[in-house]
Amino acid sequence: MNEKRDIYLDNSATTRCFPEVAALMNELFLEDYGNPSAMHHRGVTAERRIAEAKKILAGILKAKEKNLCFTSCGTESDNLAIIGAAMASQRKGKHLITSLIEHPAVLETMKYLETQGFEITRLGVDRDGLISPEEIAAAVRPDTILVSVMHTNNIIGAVEPVEEIGKAVKAANPNTLFHVDAVQGFGKAQIYPKRMNIDLLSVSGHKIHGPKGTGFLYIADGVRLVPQMHGGGQQNGLRSGTENVPGIAGMALAARMLYKDLDSDRAKLFSMKNRLIERLGVIPDVVFNGRTDETAAPHILSVRVRGVRAEVLLHALEDKGIFVSAGSACSSNHPRPSETLMAHRRPGKGDGELDPDQPLCHEHNGRDGCGG
Ligand code: PLP
Repeated sequence: MNEKRDIYLDNSATTRCFPEVAALMNELFLEDYGNPSAMHHRGVTAERRIAEAKKILAGILKAKEKNLCFTSCGTESDNLAIIGAAMASQRKGKHLITSLIEHPAVLETMKYLETQGFEITRLGVDRDGLISPEEIAAAVRPDTILVSVMHTNNIIGAVEPVEEIGKAVKAANPNTLFHVDAVQGFGKAQIYPKRMNIDLLSVSGHKIHGPKGTGFLYIADGVRLVPQMHGGGQQNGLRSGTENVPGIAGMALAARMLYKDLDSDRAKLFSMKNRLIERLGVIPDVVFNGRTDETAAPHILSVRVRGVRAEVLLHALEDKGIFVSAGSACSSNHPRPSETLMAHRRPGKGDGELDPDQPLCHEHNGRDGCGG
């Protein structure tokens, strides 16, 4: 296959590293490869690289360096946030709230907590995939220890009203922690956790043109988490394990590059997305899932073609060098509709009606770790 002619439309599954990121990481693998915990020069240099990365990422979030904990991916950040907070707060209560359209990194973690005696409320979404701040507020109880909601949905690109949800959660119960899975939103939108009442924020490096195997969790001042990794006590004991210095530095550089031109990049993405919507929209059997205006994410479009199985379409596009994600692509042995599409499925017929048998979207089965 001629790589030059490929059209890669699967950047919500994962991205290609920026060449600058790969070059920096190469240098760190070969030159500054010391263990950041070591006391000699190589160790100190590595530690400095971590400090520089923290400064960049904290600056983007308008947070402090000490609010950040590096992890290996978005999934680990979600697990540390949710299980860590639940374990630390269980004396105050055992009730958590989330939505039905979260990524399996959150949904499966919540299921695990149920096996540990926690109670989970899962809220639905409207026809555009949006979670209602009012419904969240009504569900918050005196024993609610955490609310977890995603910033941007990985399947239909709905951008959730996290600022309003944060406000609603704190008004209902100031002791309830607010976790946001920003794996699809970070790098595409300005996110200021403090201003948005966000206590915990998950980010992944490989979705932002950084390396795979990287991520971080923002933890607001005063929030206590029980560590999920035990060992050498790195990162103030919260996440033991030798830090992935090249990965951390690479992720921070990727973030810096994205945020430098955020507004113009968003405009460019919206213009490409709008062109795609316009061109695809004239095809009679094409239906878009979720909102197609600029209140949705600039980089995600979910399309259904009536009467065509997503897997068939995926391979037909692949033959033309176009790469997309489809429901069945991630779970080829057990094709099933996307939980997001099921959760915001609307009644009635006509445009926008969702057919759960025919989704063309990112799909996760929670087992194979596949994209989106
Ligand atoms: N949360 C969301 C919304 C995602 O889209 C993904 C990626 O698929 C994850 C979490 C998991 O991130 P990672 O692949 O870094 O574990």
